[in-house]
Amino acid sequence: MHQAKLLPANGPPPARLRTVYQIFRGTTPKLYWTKAFMDPVIMPRHRVIVLLAMQNSLSTTDNLCKRGFHMVIRCVLCFKAEETAQHLFFACEYSSCVLQALFTWQGFTRRHLSLNHELRRLAQVTGKNIRKKWANCTLGAAVYNLWAERNAQIFQDTYRSSDQLIYVTKNVIRVRVLAYMNGLTNEVVSISLAL
Ligand SMILES: [Zn+2]
Repeated sequence: MHQAKLLPANGPPPARLRTVYQIFRGTTPKLYWTKAFMDPVIMPRHRVIVLLAMQNSLSTTDNLCKRGFHMVIRCVLCFKAEETAQHLFFACEYSSCVLQALFTWQGFTRRHLSLNHELRRLAQVTGKNIRKKWANCTLGAAVYNLWAERNAQIFQDTYRSSDQLIYVTKNVIRVRVLAYMNGLTNEVVSISLAL
């Protein structure tokens, strides 16, 4: 008696488990910026703010108005436009000045356009050297410090000029990158920044 065959000799090859899984999962676009964004040189709190900004989940005044809060939606950094995440980090006069200075410091002369654009640009910086770490660290520190400055102006009634913020942000980046390259811990970085 012949044993029953599972598939005819000339039929299609058996489906592989991986192929079936991919069909059910569907295709997902590759996130070009993940590697740069997950670089441990970026401080965890900086990464959180960049992620929230990318998702437009920060409590900017336009987002709060959408949730039913009534408030003036002018940007507190420039008082010239409505405060949205896109404006706050890339279109604002104050932020543009800070970001342009930081990017020029790194040797980039192109104008910054959006958070997505900058993450794409970071992903294109190649190598594992200090320049790559510097580039990855800069965007996180810039976005975090701009958000912190906006909050300080609203909630603590303090003000730092764009030059002051550039100076502070450069220091944060310098300490963080050098500490990372020398294998120092986050605690050492925090102490160095407090000194
Ligand atoms: Zn503004």
